[in-house]
Amino acid sequence: MFGLGVLKGLGVTLKHFINTFVDDLKYFPKSMVNEEAFARRQGPEGAGLFTVEYPEMKLQPPENFRFIPFLVTDYDVAKNAPEYDLAKANEMVRCTSCGICSKVCPPQCIWIVRTNDPKTGKPIPQPAEFYIDADICMNCGFCAEFCPFDAIKMDHDYELADYERDVGHIHDLPRLMKPVSYYASIRPTWNAQEEAIRKAAEEEKRRKAEEKQRKAAEKAAAKAAAAAAKGDEAKPAPKPKKSPEEIKAQREAMPAKKQERAAKAEEAAEPAKTDDLTKIEGIGPKISGILKDAGIPTFATLAATEVNNLKEILQKAELRAPYDPTSWPEQAKLAAAGKWAELETLQDQLKGGRRV
Ligand code: SF4
Ligand code: SF4
Repeated sequence: MFGLGVLKGLGVTLKHFINTFVDDLKYFPKSMVNEEAFARRQGPEGAGLFTVEYPEMKLQPPENFRFIPFLVTDYDVAKNAPEYDLAKANEMVRCTSCGICSKVCPPQCIWIVRTNDPKTGKPIPQPAEFYIDADICMNCGFCAEFCPFDAIKMDHDYELADYERDVGHIHDLPRLMKPVSYYASIRPTWNAQEEAIRKAAEEEKRRKAEEKQRKAAEKAAAKAAAAAAKGDEAKPAPKPKKSPEEIKAQREAMPAKKQERAAKAEEAAEPAKTDDLTKIEGIGPKISGILKDAGIPTFATLAATEVNNLKEILQKAELRAPYDPTSWPEQAKLAAAGKWAELETLQDQLKGGRRV
């Protein structure tokens, strides 16, 4: 029938209208702000009014909702508490006035004044002033994302309307600072994650410091033990004192010892000198080798060797052919002196080294 649908729709509206007053009576006198009544009205079982009657009723913004940023201070006292101390809040604010947030802010609505030490003039990691222009801020959240100290966070407070423009919309440091517990209440998940990361970093720092301390202690202990062991070692018995005569004799012997050492060094430096003993008539390469093995490598040493000693050396070598070394020292003497002409004359008188 024409108009029946309209009537049905009006009926549903009327039903909700009446149920709203039933709910009001049920939760009287605070039905508008009663959380249970509010949750039921917003859920599938809601029977009465299901719109939110702002400002008496407010929907809780989701955790990731973001509005004008605020600065986190570790001074955990509510701003409206009578004991709230602005200076302490300022002292414990996490912001180091590094300026990163103001650099990344796309509309450039942040400006910071750094604190300087009045004595040295050096910067102190603490903002002297911090401003955000709420009319320019576009709530992008870049500042909070880039802050390396978790010092600036996006707020949930959207009730910022007022009747003047110049001061009320420029948020200054006292207004921007909010305690860390407030941040934990609006963003519990984020806060828990950040706290876990911070605690892990602190634990790692502490572990490293302890490790360093332990290594230093071990090193010191090892050093002390080494020093103690060195001290315990039996000291060598002191040398008996020398008599004046002994000292005098030692001094006198010193030049000779020095000379001997120099000669030894020279000998060690230069290769042992050998002469070609085959230049002596009667000495062939084999005999030359036997003589050198017997410690007669030069004309001079051959010249100084007794004939009998030479005969002994030849006998020990058990040579088949008979050798007569009688003229060898004489020939060697001329060779050692470089008298080659006289050696030749002598050798003309010899046959196989023997006098004929
Ligand atoms: S980035 Fe963080 S620490 Fe640096 S000035 Fe901004 S709020 Fe402060
Ligand atoms: S939220 Fe975005 S626009 Fe607002 S202050 Fe931070 S960076 Fe700037």
